[in-house]
Amino acid sequence: DMVHFDVMDGHFVPNITYGAPVLKCLKKAVPEAFYDVHLMISDPARYAQDFATAGANLINFHIEAVPNHVGQTIAAVRETGCLVGLTISPSTPPQAVFPYLDELDLVLVMGVEPGFGGQKFIPTTPTRIAAICAERTRRGCDTLIEVDGGINTETGPLCIAAGADWLVAGSSLFHAMDPAAVVNVLHSK
Ligand code: ZN
Repeated sequence: DMVHFDVMDGHFVPNITYGAPVLKCLKKAVPEAFYDVHLMISDPARYAQDFATAGANLINFHIEAVPNHVGQTIAAVRETGCLVGLTISPSTPPQAVFPYLDELDLVLVMGVEPGFGGQKFIPTTPTRIAAICAERTRRGCDTLIEVDGGINTETGPLCIAAGADWLVAGSSLFHAMDPAAVVNVLHSK
């Protein structure tokens, strides 16, 4: 359905992945894909335009990266023409995104601590999703809820039941004997 592109800067998170030039190459190779860019970086506003120009359709940034500049960062991403997503790590209460729900296209709830692939799903994640889902319903807004980290054919359905709209699958898909079968199970929920 889309490509989720994890950008790590070695500063906000200890790992380093890749940046806008790699996205540009991917976009050139697969222009029809929707690119959901997840910035795990310290200064998302500074780099948002680079990723938008490289082909991002949606840009996610972490509330923990810019705790005092959330509104300005939403505006900076909006300015690029991309859809705007706000991401929360497991240690951040879900209520932290409530003041911004109406301004956002999407909230990304982390199912693991950001920084490395292949981690085990944190079991309180569906409860966190449900809290955001309830607030979305209360406000009558249509902000999407996405979940990233530890998603597989067992945890994915729990997140969907809690109100998630989009699932990000990494290891469970790429390490599967039959990746298409994993996609089929997740689609069926
Ligand atoms: Zn991600």
